[in-house]
Amino acid sequence: MNPPDVPAPDQNADGDAGDAPAEPFADVDLAGATVSTDEPLAPKTWLRVGGPAQHFAEPTDRNQLQALVKRCAETDTTCRLLGGGSNLLVRDEGVSGLVIRLPKEHWSELTIDAEAGTATVDCGAPLSHLVAETVKAGLAGLETLVGIPGTVGGALHGNSGGRHADVGSVCDSVEVMTRSGEIVTRTRDELSFGYRRSSLDELCLLRATFALKSADPDDLADRARKTWILKKSSQPLSHQSAGCVFMNPRGQSAGDLIERAGLKGTRVGGAEVSDRHGNFIVTGEGAQSADVLRLIDLCRDTVRQRTGVELETELRIW
Ligand SMILES: Cc1cc2nc3c(=O)[nH]c(=O)nc-3n(C[C@H](O)[C@H](O)[C@H](O)COP(=O)(O)OP(=O)(O)OC[C@H]3O[C@@H](n4cnc5c(N)ncnc54)[C@H](O)[C@@H]3O)c2cc1C
Repeated sequence: MNPPDVPAPDQNADGDAGDAPAEPFADVDLAGATVSTDEPLAPKTWLRVGGPAQHFAEPTDRNQLQALVKRCAETDTTCRLLGGGSNLLVRDEGVSGLVIRLPKEHWSELTIDAEAGTATVDCGAPLSHLVAETVKAGLAGLETLVGIPGTVGGALHGNSGGRHADVGSVCDSVEVMTRSGEIVTRTRDELSFGYRRSSLDELCLLRATFALKSADPDDLADRARKTWILKKSSQPLSHQSAGCVFMNPRGQSAGDLIERAGLKGTRVGGAEVSDRHGNFIVTGEGAQSADVLRLIDLCRDTVRQRTGVELETELRIW
């Protein structure tokens, strides 16, 4: 088998660490933020594989976040945002620079204005919390996103969604922090959302407002329940995975292409193409990130040889 392709760098990382000092966060005022070193990332992702972050921080407020981001800019240190880790594969060698996670205890404030039909939420909040609360308040637009793990920030960054809707279709504005630490608001007319992509490529999504429609809460709960049942019956939700590995090529299903290529159940080391859904890779005991990368390449190569279709990864790779 060929060695794994090196996927294009994630657009959410701000380039190579370059000449970053070895201890960019020592003896500087970070507004009270603490930075750990060699922090294991595997337990913070759904695939549970991969190496550590060179530096890791969980800022509790905007001042701390800004201090960290500005320090990265000053020292040319790579900075990445980790959400719920449900669409992410970290390489075995880990990642250089700083990884920031917005802890949900401090970044989950949600305000619903049922009359205006809006919900405004911090981007560290679990998407499931936003979905549940808007359904309860009788606001329609997010109910079919039930069962998608991760945070509001991760969902907006990759415009997560399903057959019926995606998160971008009801997003009205997003407050973001740029790589230089500036806070700006991106309004609807500046935003564009496509299939599993958004124009939100700023370093950190902070807070988002959604414009929703008034509806009967029982009808919404019923729609959410039906979507959840369908999802549970077709996806290996009880296994370690990162959702769909590949994007669906126009008019086709990546899962079907993988299944028709006879790849369901194929294993490399501790990673396996799910026998439930061809577009899910699940990891088990002893799995390494390299196993997942080899399996991704095997699927991509086999589908290309059999059908001529080039599969593109939906999964982010650090
Ligand atoms: C069992 C399972 C089922 C799934 N089903 C679906 C589905 O039906 N539809 C779907 O679209 N996806 C699905 N997914 C994939 C995944 O849940 C979504 O893509 C999710 O929205 C990712 O959010 P996250 O917070 O986990 O992001 P992460 O995986 O942590 O990160 C993904 C990307 O978002 C960026 N990011 C995260 N937070 C921020 C922030 N605050 N600011 C800036 N950038 C940020 C990261 O830097 C990274 O580039 C599924 C995954 C699993 C494991």
